[in-house]
Amino acid sequence: MPGVTEVFVRVALDQPIPTLFDYRYSFADLPQVGQLVQVPFGRRSVTGLICEVTRHSEVPLERLRAVEAHCSDCPPLSPAWIALTAFAADYYQRPLGEVALPALPQALRDATRWGRLLAVEIHYRITALGREALPEVLPARAQALRRLAEALCHSGALALPAARALHPKATATLGDWCAAGWVEQQSGALDTVAEIRPDDGIAPALNHEQQQALEAIAGASGFVPFLLHGVTGSGKTEVYLHALAALMAADASAQALVMVPEINLTPQFEAAFRARFASLPGEAIVTLHSGLAEGERARNWLAAHLGRARIVLGTRLAVLASLPGLALIVVDEEHEAAYKQQEGLRYSARDLAVWRAKQLGIPVVLGSATPSLESWWQAEQGRYTRLTLARRAVTDAVLPSVRLVDLDHEKRRGRPMVEGLTMPLLSALKERLERGEQSLIFLNRRGYAPVLSCDACGWVAGCPRCSAYVVLHKPERMMRCHHCGWESKIPSACPECGNVDIAPLGRGTQRVEEALAGALPGARILRIDADSTRRKGSAQALFSDVHAGQVDVLVGTQMIAKGHDFQRVTLVGVLNADTALFSHDFRASERLFAQLMQVSGRAGRGGLASEVLIQTRYARHPLYDALGRHDYPGFARSTLAERRQAHLPPFVYQALLRAEARTLEQALAFLHNAAAGLDALPGGERVTRYDPVPLTIVKVMHVHRAQLLIESASRAVLQHVLHAWQAHLRGLKGALRWSVEVDPLDI
Ligand code: ADP
Ligand code: ZN
Ligand code: ZN
Repeated sequence: MPGVTEVFVRVALDQPIPTLFDYRYSFADLPQVGQLVQVPFGRRSVTGLICEVTRHSEVPLERLRAVEAHCSDCPPLSPAWIALTAFAADYYQRPLGEVALPALPQALRDATRWGRLLAVEIHYRITALGREALPEVLPARAQALRRLAEALCHSGALALPAARALHPKATATLGDWCAAGWVEQQSGALDTVAEIRPDDGIAPALNHEQQQALEAIAGASGFVPFLLHGVTGSGKTEVYLHALAALMAADASAQALVMVPEINLTPQFEAAFRARFASLPGEAIVTLHSGLAEGERARNWLAAHLGRARIVLGTRLAVLASLPGLALIVVDEEHEAAYKQQEGLRYSARDLAVWRAKQLGIPVVLGSATPSLESWWQAEQGRYTRLTLARRAVTDAVLPSVRLVDLDHEKRRGRPMVEGLTMPLLSALKERLERGEQSLIFLNRRGYAPVLSCDACGWVAGCPRCSAYVVLHKPERMMRCHHCGWESKIPSACPECGNVDIAPLGRGTQRVEEALAGALPGARILRIDADSTRRKGSAQALFSDVHAGQVDVLVGTQMIAKGHDFQRVTLVGVLNADTALFSHDFRASERLFAQLMQVSGRAGRGGLASEVLIQTRYARHPLYDALGRHDYPGFARSTLAERRQAHLPPFVYQALLRAEARTLEQALAFLHNAAAGLDALPGGERVTRYDPVPLTIVKVMHVHRAQLLIESASRAVLQHVLHAWQAHLRGLKGALRWSVEVDPLDI
């Protein structure tokens, strides 16, 4: 009776259908949960993940298809990892397969590459039993077998490709010998990984605050979420390094995950880790981010999965890496919006990191000079343990003084301005030049000018595909849409009225660079933004020039604000910050404050007196006042009070339903239907539902976008309603794309 002895597997596939798929499994070895398989799906073969093994299937036997291939060389993904992806899928309202499979490196999702990929990762080691038995049992004439046995006896661990070179059927033979207990397959940590030798990089002695933070982290047992609030330059990295060292020394198989918000920040962290942990073999420290070549990403991922990588340094996607020995998670600059994935599975890597730490019962450190208000509020309530570094670590390095330059005042006094640069800022720049110090000009707008318009008829250059203006890019002589990438030559006259006097309005980094070059002859000026760093590796080269002192004035967007430990910057000028003060986005001021704190934090790190100059028309704004006092807690207190008053996060939990369609009417009609469905749900009245609205930039790439916001003071209620709503949404008809975003950052 086939049905009784047969084994079935329930497999997660990367398909937009919230279910597992049943297959028969007819290989000799038993299937394991967490194993990768290749299965037929429609007319294709796809890779899936075994989530359940069962003797019964609801699907009629004749309709069940069989697993085509299984990946037996790769140890299965752990139940904890599957639970993590299942949680993410559940919380962010996606099918499990759409979370679990994209979390794997591309190369692993291609069954034809399994063999080659995994061969290098697998090592065999002879056991004591094998050392005795093998020479006895091998026939004298079986030369290939003997060569293999000898190689095993003489090498500590034999890699599979090396074994294959000795014996063409090495895989099968070694499998048999494993079964006999003569050899062991080793895919865990190598012995050499365990020790950290004294010749490793010299660590500076921690100051008192750092020491206290370290003791708390290293002494934590079980799940403890730490909020490491350290002012810029307070030496948070040093605390991480010491915590990692303590962990590595205490436990030879422990793994740590360190996350940074941007690919650009990985090289400097990697260099610091390699210098400090120089005795670890190369593969013990790996990076995981989207900038890696496919093969490298797969190798690094496997090193983590096999336990060989002890420190995994990565961007948000690393939070879903398989880390069987995970014992510590660090999320640096935890407030950064880059931790939020904005398409596909819209997850917060920071939030998942905390969940993962809780699941595994390990500490997690969220570090920032300007924590997110969500995390700060957790600390205020005592749910997160706050660790404070209030002073800069380098002796003599003090936080810069902040000076506001009142633009209206400058104008009233009739003081000249050069392309938006005020006299106080220009003379501060000149002082730095004379002293051979560096300056940094921060402006969060790339391109030359955000608008090109005609005075005569009011024409403004817009994108034909989006409801947005195009940005002027002077060096490239192009107008470019920053939403869809549409490009066109800069017209020589107004296309509406023929006026040749069309003019750029407003300023971006390119225009400021040009103005500075005119105002500071001889100064070495460098611009760093998304445009100047398009080529791979170019950002790294440009930042090295700054560190090497080959730059006098650095102009840039938020790319220059984060993380970098510039030693000789003593002046930071901030242009055009005011626009964010009165945004309709309630998070704009939080973001602005964090950005300004970060960029200010680039000044004075080497111990020289330093200054931040902010050009503003609102010199009395409380945000600037708090900034001048370097008073994050004060800013957080008043902003949290406003949020509480206005029923905004973190005091409510929100979710968005987004619709994208050919016309705005279609998108809105879908959302109205969705809204009606929600209102009719049992429990639907327990969430607050807002009316569907078009997005501010309603059209991108000819697609019209609208959204509907729902919220609740209870996360559980919101989750409950979202789940119930899914079934209704899936049943709605319409030629459009929709998605649910939980805990959205941009509303
Ligand atoms: P943060 O990340 O908090 O902004 P960093 O980790 O970049 O700060 O540290 C700022 C500077 O202080 C770095 O140059 C670092 O080498 C130095 N530093 C950190 N800790 C110490 C210490 N205990 N003694 C001396 N210098 C330190
Ligand atoms: Zn015109
Ligand atoms: Zn466009």
